[in-house]
Amino acid sequence: MQETRTEEPAPVSPLEMALAQFDAAADRLGLDEGLRHLLRQPKRAVSVSVPLRLDSGALRVFRGYRVLHNDARGPGKGGIRYHPDVTLEEVTALAMWMTWKTAVAGVPFGGAKGGVAVNPRDLSPGELERLTRRFTTAIAPVIGPEMDVPAPDVNTDQRVMAWMADTYGTLRGRAAPGVVTGKPPALGGSLGRAEATGRGLVCAVEEAARTLHLPLQGATVAFTGFGNAGGSGALLMAEAGATVVAVSDSTACVYNGRGLDVRRLRQEKRRGRSLAEVAATDGGMDVISHEELLALPVDILAPCALEAEIHGGNAGLIRARVLAEGANGPTTPEADAVLAERGTLVIPDILCNAGGVVVSYFEWVQDRQGYFWDEGEVNARLQQVMCRAYAAVAAEAEAQGVSMREAAYLVAVRRVAEAVALRGV
Ligand code: GLU
Repeated sequence: MQETRTEEPAPVSPLEMALAQFDAAADRLGLDEGLRHLLRQPKRAVSVSVPLRLDSGALRVFRGYRVLHNDARGPGKGGIRYHPDVTLEEVTALAMWMTWKTAVAGVPFGGAKGGVAVNPRDLSPGELERLTRRFTTAIAPVIGPEMDVPAPDVNTDQRVMAWMADTYGTLRGRAAPGVVTGKPPALGGSLGRAEATGRGLVCAVEEAARTLHLPLQGATVAFTGFGNAGGSGALLMAEAGATVVAVSDSTACVYNGRGLDVRRLRQEKRRGRSLAEVAATDGGMDVISHEELLALPVDILAPCALEAEIHGGNAGLIRARVLAEGANGPTTPEADAVLAERGTLVIPDILCNAGGVVVSYFEWVQDRQGYFWDEGEVNARLQQVMCRAYAAVAAEAEAQGVSMREAAYLVAVRRVAEAVALRGV
């Protein structure tokens, strides 16, 4: 493994990143000053206390948030994350990114996000359910199928969405499956939703690879983050013929130059084993450092973990030709400049990881119609939407001579600004 060096970056907050990205687009578009003020702030931010009776009988109180950044193009849309580092500021940045993501994807939603500052690994299943029901009750006045529609995000899943849908329906006195997406199919969830973020990421990478004349068959890929986006992305990338040489979770980065058995690793994770635990008993992989993973001479690097993972201090290590952002906000503006200098093709988060919210849109449509599609139809339509979005961003990048990220922002901010202007204040 080659020697690597990183420096601690000056910390940049997700909200600073989101505002810097927006301001750059607003400048380029010559956006009206008033409109700029409107779009720099969330329309609504709710902060709630979430009391939880632990199994031990003790009472703990957690902080929860739901932020609606903008709903000019449709109801708020975005996930709920459970993570100890969740803050109002972080959720606000993530909500803003959702506004641009739904606009780039061309689905009729605004942007929102929510979260609870909690480490779900510290909770029993019963505690997690009670926390979820209490949080849902607290934010019930500001969510709804026509108002704001939550979904899974970091550390939340179908099970959490099932509890949210049930709690909301109980409060309203009738089933309202369209209040959240990412539900189990038995409760009105869409087929294909669980893998949708990964499937959309593969669609975007296929489009990028085509422009670079890089066949996916045999291409080498490294992932960071092995949750919903990274786990499904790695599996589908392997199924598409690529060699997944590295993946990571919060406990370890694992590597095998001949390719990892991604399917088995996912099964182990589902059984509750961390990558560090699997690597300790499995000779088929080496444990490497995070810096070593970033520095791998792969064709494609897909950061699918948390915000600001790639920063000014480590961007110079990256040797991949394509950076496929499965996470939200994984790359700081400083790192973006380094990658642009090196000619790395960055597929920005608001395009690259839009597959999840696209199939969330399909789920919401199916719930409202009460008519469900087969998985083939979901996947075919997802591919169509991703290809259309990629083409619009690539055309903008070409026409304006800007990066794919800047182009995605131009497309998104223009669409949202048009909707705001048409509605009037
Ligand atoms: N949490 C996912 C995201 O960041 C999905 C959001 C949704 O489906 O509403 O895009």
